[in-house]
Amino acid sequence: MRITNVEVLRSKAPVRLPEPWRPAWTEPDGQAVQEFFFSFYRVTTDEGIVGYGPHSGHPRPEALIGTDPMLVGAFWETYMGGRRAGNAGHNASGLEIALWDIVGKTAGLPIYQLLGAQRKRIMVYAATSRLLSVDETVTQVQALAEQGFRAVKLRLHRRNPWDDLAVVEAVRAAVGNDLLILVDANQNNASDGYSFWSRKTALEMAQELDALGVYYLEEPLPRTDIEGLADIASTVDMYIAGGEHTPTVFDLREHLARGAYDIVQPDVSLGGNMGLTGVRVAASWADLFGRLIIPHVMSGPGHLMSLAATLHAMATVPNCPMIEYAYDPPLLTPETMQAVAQEPILVEEDGCVPVPTGPGLGIELDEEQFIVG
Ligand SMILES: [Mg+2]
Repeated sequence: MRITNVEVLRSKAPVRLPEPWRPAWTEPDGQAVQEFFFSFYRVTTDEGIVGYGPHSGHPRPEALIGTDPMLVGAFWETYMGGRRAGNAGHNASGLEIALWDIVGKTAGLPIYQLLGAQRKRIMVYAATSRLLSVDETVTQVQALAEQGFRAVKLRLHRRNPWDDLAVVEAVRAAVGNDLLILVDANQNNASDGYSFWSRKTALEMAQELDALGVYYLEEPLPRTDIEGLADIASTVDMYIAGGEHTPTVFDLREHLARGAYDIVQPDVSLGGNMGLTGVRVAASWADLFGRLIIPHVMSGPGHLMSLAATLHAMATVPNCPMIEYAYDPPLLTPETMQAVAQEPILVEEDGCVPVPTGPGLGIELDEEQFIVG
């Protein structure tokens, strides 16, 4: 089989959001987002099988024309950093996911069954995204719990970290111990006008959150402060999580060996080097160290395919208790984030998502909504 064409599909028209979106990690001076655009790769073969993946910005996708899509492992090694540390700069993760889609469609099987399924459904946590007031947050979390979510992630990125803590305290008091509360400090993001936590602040916050029975604290310090992260992780009982910006799977090596992360959070497409192959390798490495994996799922232009690829990958590993599901009504919902899907990936009553069962990724785009270019 040979690849005969690689195209980028882009939204004809944006999905307008019902109100401006101010993500916590860009506070206090970030630009509000008004609308979403989507873009995906479409990879065509000489046998008529077509694969899709999230657009990840590869500089020369046409270089794939004439190559064999079945050599997806070789593609991962060559174009995505493979064994090498550091960023290979190819931004090829979306193409790797499209190759997996072709492999699955050729076999007539969903990817997770081809790779050795361990389960057919995966629990998700509702990832909220904004810094709401104490009352607004409590109301939102109660609504999420009523919808069936068993885990909810809150954002910590207020000017005063003690204000973050007051929100978590109020939510814990309102929902009791049935719901898992996850918190993300987003201390590895660029954010104008924000005073990032020192090591002492991060440790103090971790101890307070630990006392509130929080399930995990994500990114209490920058990704590169391995020593500081390891110190916090060894001090508290709660899990310390992070790694969404990890450029290649080999950059997780020190974090695992030195105990910086109890839970690794690579992203199948963000950064462009992980891919479906990479998150499975990361899961194996974490498992070797007795650690967990809860992948980050980027809410960017290729969200739908990134979510599907993450579900397939994590259905094949033993140490993934849940994955991220961006959900922050009325902004982040299936209606906005999966507006281009023939059938969106939805959360069922028990807070779990079935892995798509069609061949390959098992996802079909509404191609009427796209132009090539
Ligand atoms: Mg995060």
